[in-house]
Amino acid sequence: MQTEHIKITDPAVQENALARAAEIIRGGGLVVFPTETVYGLGGNATDDSAAQKIYAAKGRPSDNPLIIHIAKPEDAESYAVPNDTYFRLAKAFMPGPLTVILPKRENIPSSVTGGLDTVAVRCPSHPVAHRLIELAGVPIAAPSANLSGKPSPTSAAHVAQDMDGRVDMILDGGECEIGLESTIVKIDGNSLTLLRPGGITYDALCMVCEHVTVADAVTHQLAANERPLSPGMKYRHYAPTAPVVLLDGDTDKVLRFLQAEQDLRRCAILCYDEELPHLKSENLLPVGARNDLDAQAKRLFSALRKADGTDAEIIYAHLPPMEGIGLALYNRMIRAAAHTIKRID
Ligand code: AMP
Ligand code: MG
Repeated sequence: MQTEHIKITDPAVQENALARAAEIIRGGGLVVFPTETVYGLGGNATDDSAAQKIYAAKGRPSDNPLIIHIAKPEDAESYAVPNDTYFRLAKAFMPGPLTVILPKRENIPSSVTGGLDTVAVRCPSHPVAHRLIELAGVPIAAPSANLSGKPSPTSAAHVAQDMDGRVDMILDGGECEIGLESTIVKIDGNSLTLLRPGGITYDALCMVCEHVTVADAVTHQLAANERPLSPGMKYRHYAPTAPVVLLDGDTDKVLRFLQAEQDLRRCAILCYDEELPHLKSENLLPVGARNDLDAQAKRLFSALRKADGTDAEIIYAHLPPMEGIGLALYNRMIRAAAHTIKRID
């Protein structure tokens, strides 16, 4: 398949290109588009065969359900059964990086939801994503636009590495603002379960809902016989070829450990900007200032892709704090590291 690559800088000016992309979606084809979280691999969410094409293009197991993207929060009513809690969440956080699991209606094929009777709904804020959904006139099912087993793409260059020749069109909207996938919550009456942390933080959810529980799989490795609340949690998340080790401990001691390791073996290091002058530059991948968790979130997947492209025998990164967006970083990083944390005392 020949993939068309289009750079969109202003959705209002490039209305023609977006109209063609919407036409592809309505015709059952696949379009990769930017969102504020990561790039999405989109197809018509009401079309069973489009859903099959998405799973095939990604090489994704078809029991791992897709998120459907809508133009306005109230459109959820056409495809799902929202309750008061949904509308309170929508008022506070939509459009934005929040996905809500709701009972599904008949018009969403079970292939989209991996056979579940619930559907994941999100209303993205990115202007390109928003306009594309609006013009398509159908909800867009879109998982992250990476090959299964690779990190989610945060730039069109990452998308091209994985999806060139597998989709009809790639819309390049530059770098994604947040860089980690959306927060996913499941509603039970007035209570919420946080299934996947993301740009909408635990504290922000607590401002809207009194009872918010964090699912065990967010911070811990599930035992082999445990069933996750979200099917995606059972799949091995992206892990580079070289082992990833997360370092925890005193700032100076961790830096001295990294300096010693650089003398001993080929390491790639996801380092803080402050550490740059103190480490050898080879395979050094700065992720932002120590206290700038937003920058670290934005750069994590790109840094992991780069680390995987080096000849390093081991990849070191810092264990993030679990506050704010740090919980989302922690969740993605412990999975990339297969829960390997080294304490430096
Ligand atoms: P991705 O589209 O790659 O960001 O992955 C979507 C995530 O949403 C996966 O981890 C799915 O398991 C999760 N998900 C989608 N639909 C549901 C659902 N109905 N119930 C629980 N989790 C879901
Ligand atoms: Mg994904």
